[in-house]
Order: sequence, then structure tokens, then C-alpha cells
Amino acid sequence: MFTRPIAPLADAEFAAHEEIVVCYDPDAGLSALIAVHDTSLGPAAGGCRLYPYADAGAALHDVLRLSRAMSLKNALAGLPLGGGKSVIIARPQDKTPQLLRAFAARVTALQGRYWTAEDINIGPADADLLRDNCPYVFGLSAARGGSGDPSAYTAAGCFHGIRACLQYLHGNDDPAGLHVTIQGVGRVGYELARQLVQAGARLTITDVDAQRAAAVAAELGAERVGPADIHRVASDVFAPCAMGATINLHTIAELGAPIICGVANNQIADAAARAALLERGVLYAPDYVVNAGGMLHASTDIFGRRDPAEVDRRIRGIFDTTSEILSAAAQRKVSTEVVADELANARIAAARATRVAGR
Ligand code: NAD
Repeated sequence: MFTRPIAPLADAEFAAHEEIVVCYDPDAGLSALIAVHDTSLGPAAGGCRLYPYADAGAALHDVLRLSRAMSLKNALAGLPLGGGKSVIIARPQDKTPQLLRAFAARVTALQGRYWTAEDINIGPADADLLRDNCPYVFGLSAARGGSGDPSAYTAAGCFHGIRACLQYLHGNDDPAGLHVTIQGVGRVGYELARQLVQAGARLTITDVDAQRAAAVAAELGAERVGPADIHRVASDVFAPCAMGATINLHTIAELGAPIICGVANNQIADAAARAALLERGVLYAPDYVVNAGGMLHASTDIFGRRDPAEVDRRIRGIFDTTSEILSAAAQRKVSTEVVADELANARIAAARATRVAGR
């Protein structure tokens, strides 16, 4: 239930969006927002998050930020997709089939301008239920004929991002013999760890789930440290693969690696942390550049065809995109995120110009 009016129209993110849909269906217990940031490159695509936001303003702030990030991620991945995202304002225990069906109806009403998928508190079973009631759902389980778990593809993209960072810094992209620290060995972190060990890297890992960390360390022959210590470990690459905002002034001051390249979304805590990374000369591969492998794979559900060789080629392309961004940022002495944003926005603007010219 909305408890205060949505944020003012002056909000820059609000104005940058093509369309924001308010979905309210009290009978079904549905309060949701669908944000279509930009469709210049193609239909907006991005997951649906269910979360007990304090109020509609907080939900709007989150959905606007997330949908813009999807525009940037999809553009940088070279996908013919725009950016969108949706949020359902609810507690996980209040998620019902009726609520999800009501949400699916709202997505259907957009007639393919927005495609939805899993996100926080919307799991595979929920995505299946959405798909039963709406054609515009991607990232479905393999059992349902969908693309299945994207984790290995996300990890592969990050692996190529790490190669690009190594190439840039050492003139050699081979991780063999190098030391990588991984924060969080969940679905993607574990896959990344596996791929790095296969390539001959040495690992130090951590996870707040101590049992999981111990099992992964034993399986892969990795060292293990506590969650509070991982960023301090002297290594060649630090890969954040857990939660966002772990790169802050405190962790940067103690950072043991010259490179940060991992899959966690929104790794940099704030503008001060961004400036500190630049000042310390830490090579940071923007998360939304190197974690696009899963999207490259999952989006095959949207296009209705799966060409593993093409997906692999595009995931390998993350090496080139990352390299281009690292070089341009160093030349201009600006953060890698500034360059990544500009590159994405230029691709979106070019697609928009073509579309306008074709009208
Ligand atoms: P996951 O939940 O499977 O794994 C996260 C792991 O991090 C868990 O094992 C958890 O115990 C651990 N963790 C949480 N807080 C921690 C902390 N403070 N220190 C150490 N470990 C901690 O999630 P995932 O699917 O592997 O995704 C990891 C990150 O990558 C998330 O930020 C996610 O948004 C992002 N991401 C994932 C994908 C994907 O394909 N799954 C795609 C793009 C981005």
C-alpha cells in the first residue's frame, strides 16, 4: 500500500525514463512499479524484485536506479535490448499466486515493451508462474524450455574481464600462477573460482556461510579467510561476488589487490569511494560491464533462438569492451565508470537517432 506520493517529477532519473507504470490492485494485494528506462536499442529487459520497501518513494528510487543500470548493461553487452526493471512492494511471505498473476497481467498489457525475469525474492517457481500468465518472461528454467541457470555464463564474462585487467596492467592476460581473492562463493562466485582454478590461478576465498566456504576451499584447493579480511589479502585481483557496496573508503584504504573485477552489482559504495579508487590508481572493471554474461545467455529466451557459439562469442567480447574502457579511462584520467556510461549512452543515442530518422 502506498503511504506517500511518489517522488517529485524533477527527479533526474524520473525524467530520463520513457515510461513508469504504477500497478495497484488491492484485491490481489499488488502494489508495483514497472520502469521502462529506454527502448532505443530494443525492448526493455530486466528482472522483477519483490521487496518490503518502506514506502512508494523508496520503491520508485530503487526501480529507477535499477532500470537505468539495465539500459547501460544491455547496451555495453551489445544486446539489442533496452533497460527496464520492476519492483513489487510486498513482504516475501505475502507473495501469492494471485499477486503474481495480477503483476503478470500488467506486464502483458505493455505488449512486449518490457520483459521481466527473476530477481531478489522472485525465484524460478515464481518466474514459471509469471510465464504461465504472460509471454514476456525470460531466464526461465531449462525444465520449462528456458535458458536455465545463468551463473556459469556470468562467471565466464567476469573471467574475461579479469583477463582484460591483467592484459592492461601486465601485458599478459593469462591468470595462471596469479593469486585471486573472491568475496562470496555462491552461485557465480563458485563458478568463477572453478574457472580460475582450471586456468591455473591460486585462490583465497571467503563467504559468510562458513560451511559453504569450507566446502569450496576443500574442493578447489583454495585458501580461506574470514569475511572481514578478504579485501586485505595481498593478491593480484580482488573479485567481489557477494553483496553491493563492499568497496568503500574503509576497504579501499586496506585493499590488498591492484585490480577489482567481480560480479556483485553496485560494488562501489558512493562517490567518495569512486574518487578514492581513482586517486589510489586501483584498476576497477565496472560491475555492469563484466557481469553481463548471464544476461547475454538468458536473453536468448527473448529472441526465441539459442546459438551457444554466438553467446560464447559475445561473452568473450567482454574482454574487448573492458579493455577499451580501461584504456580510455587511463588516457583521460577519469573513472572507468564515466567511460562505460558514456560508451553505453553513445550506443543508445545512436540507436535512437536511427529510429527517429526512420520515422
Ligand atoms: P548467491 O546468493 O548465490 O551468492 C552470494 C554469496 O555471497 C552467498 O554464498 C553468500 O553467503 C555470500 N555473501 C553474502 N554476503 C557476504 C559477505 N559480506 N562476505 C562474503 N560472502 C558473502 O548470489 P549470486 O547469484 O552468486 O550473485 C552474486 C552477486 O552477483 C550478486 O550481487 C548478484 O546481484 C550479482 N549478479 C549475479 C548474476 C547471476 O547470474 N546470478 C548476474 C549479474 C550479477
